Amino acid sequence: MTSINPVTRQIADIHISSSQPTNPRPLGHTKQPSQTNVTKLLTKYAAPNPHAAKPPSRVPSPTKPLASRSKPVDPQPAPSSSKPVLEIGKYDGGLELENEERGTVVEGAAARALALDSSMIQVNPTPKWTLHSFEIGRPLGKGRFGRVYMVRTKPPHTPYILALKTLYKSEIVQEGVEKQLRREIEIQQNLRHPNILRLYGYFHDSKRVFLMLEFAGKGELYKQLSKHGSFSERRSSRYIDQMADALSYLHSKHIIHRDIKPENLLIGINGELKIGDFGWSVHAPGNRRKTLCGTLDYLPPEMVENKAHGAHVDLWALGVLMYEFLIGNPPFEDRRGAKNTYLRIARVELHFPAHVSAEPRDLITKLLQYEPEKRLSLTKVLVHPWIIRYRPKDA
Ligand code: ATP
Ligand code: MG
Repeated sequence: MTSINPVTRQIADIHISSSQPTNPRPLGHTKQPSQTNVTKLLTKYAAPNPHAAKPPSRVPSPTKPLASRSKPVDPQPAPSSSKPVLEIGKYDGGLELENEERGTVVEGAAARALALDSSMIQVNPTPKWTLHSFEIGRPLGKGRFGRVYMVRTKPPHTPYILALKTLYKSEIVQEGVEKQLRREIEIQQNLRHPNILRLYGYFHDSKRVFLMLEFAGKGELYKQLSKHGSFSERRSSRYIDQMADALSYLHSKHIIHRDIKPENLLIGINGELKIGDFGWSVHAPGNRRKTLCGTLDYLPPEMVENKAHGAHVDLWALGVLMYEFLIGNPPFEDRRGAKNTYLRIARVELHFPAHVSAEPRDLITKLLQYEPEKRLSLTKVLVHPWIIRYRPKDA
């Protein structure tokens, strides 16, 4: 453990990017509209799961290596035998309304940087998409840079439900996050894991960039956590199992997530967890990064102390996440403010309420180790008795 004084000095020097809110937890989430119809239909037409059985032959296999595909491919279409009638909800006209009021046309170098089009990429190009390729349904939410809608692809594309996320170019430029967005897209479009939200394609018009995302049928995990206060051991264990699996997939590709927290997690149609945001991910083959980013409560000691950090930051965050699932708040949260939170992190001031049983305590404690190398590896997380206990036999 380090002494307090140097930590206090470093805390004073810490710079958190302005694009990350210092109080990331808005209180009082409202429940999402009922998704029962959508749920039923999407069970049939759910997004591809690389671990699922092979789809019908004319459907490109999601497990096939990207480079081996020569022709542009649609997102996983519905089976050919039936003409699906899919509920996408009522469109509120928000895209046009917002587009009149918000954003400006971007020109020059910034425009070139944001001319993002997945039909133009060399490896595995998608069909050419425009806003006219979609029937727009109900609004799913509002993000920092624009709205998200539930949409369905129109003919000649096979009908497929997606979440279409809009981002205003001028606002991206204003925040100076063009590179970060490109990186997020580059990372996400190449990932294939059942617990990582798929990015099927992207396109742009003069003002906006559009991301075609896998539709997470059960919405935000954070809303569920706010609603229930905390999760049962079973539910927490299932989520941590899926997170550990997704993180081990990311780490095997030399991707460090660095921003694990409930707000960045969505829930799929079958209740499975989906990592949704890659804004802070780093593709770091071999090198250890030294930029401070991420969210207050989930920062590991090495980041608080402004030291070099690597993939072990995600193990720490997994421990914080597990604590928050079971107890309802992150372990080092301090209402007096950021400095106190940082101090508690640096001292690993970890306390458990009496109701937390021995097994989850053991796993959390093994993840929340001050020394990055001492944290339990993902391989060992995946065989921890508390994870095995709740894993379905067929998983
Ligand atoms: P940002 O990611 O820009 O920091 P954000 O996470 O608040 O901001 P978005 O990711 O744009 O915002 O999403 C806004 C809302 O839309 C989310 O809170 C969520 O409720 C909903 N949403 C986003 N993506 C999906 C998706 N793929 N499936 C279902 N709902 C989604
Ligand atoms: Mg988001």
